[in-house]
Amino acid sequence: ISLEIMEGEVLALVGESGCGKTTTARLLLGLIPPTSGKIYFRGVDITTLKGGELRKIRRKMQIIFQDPYESLNPRWTVFNIVAEPLTVNRIVKGRAELRRRVIEALEEVELKPAESFLHRFPHELSGGQRQRVAIARGLILRPEFVVADEPVSMLDMSIRVGILNLLLDLKEAHNLTYLFITHDLAQARYVSDRIAVMYLGKIVEEGGTSQVIDDPIHPYTKALISNVPVVGGQGPKRILLKGETPSPIRLPTGCRFHPRCPEAQPICRKEEPPLREVGGGRKVACHLY
Ligand code: SF4
Repeated sequence: ISLEIMEGEVLALVGESGCGKTTTARLLLGLIPPTSGKIYFRGVDITTLKGGELRKIRRKMQIIFQDPYESLNPRWTVFNIVAEPLTVNRIVKGRAELRRRVIEALEEVELKPAESFLHRFPHELSGGQRQRVAIARGLILRPEFVVADEPVSMLDMSIRVGILNLLLDLKEAHNLTYLFITHDLAQARYVSDRIAVMYLGKIVEEGGTSQVIDDPIHPYTKALISNVPVVGGQGPKRILLKGETPSPIRLPTGCRFHPRCPEAQPICRKEEPPLREVGGGRKVACHLY
């Protein structure tokens, strides 16, 4: 894949489960090594960094995981969970400053009064409160780049918008840049400036959010969008894809989408289409465009 994320924007990486979105995020943050390729953060190839240099740059890049039930240590209090990045990186001097910074972080995620949360354990919090604690911990080091990996998909519908709005407010307040990973196009539309659509480990379409959603070009994007429920039932005609998503370790020849593509041509079995510019800042990987 080849992907650029501009400072201050929200890029949504969209695709079905198992298409490689989370692997992409882990690669970007240096949590797993790439088998090939380069990853630049502010012009520095982070794949060549080691030890202290890597740790320094990693502080500027944080991740908010999908499942706050799993990402928070059940035996730690909220204070210990949120303070951990500061203590591990030896950023604060003394207990009083640590407490002040943790309280500040909890208030920023609207857990108020913050003092009443400090000594609670994760099981004493609601799902939404747990995700707010995870966000406080993710942002306490003042990162510049944040990967939000399906940050609301484990939460009740009624609290999702509150968490999405919180992420957008924090972005404005701290000039953050987000990679927002989701399988939900409605969420992508709500939060992002641009969308990259992924299918089996490849970006197949990229462009401005309203461009991609209102006028999809790639047959896979068209199918995804046609299956988003629309209030009043006035959406585009549903495109039902045939078959299952192929295994990523036994990729189809040519265009990897060809066994399921309603517009496939003979060339699609043989040649893989490159991701190319089609004008208006959009990119598409398809022989038809
Ligand atoms: Fe479909 Fe062919 Fe385009 Fe692939 S290259 S998306 S198979 S039309």
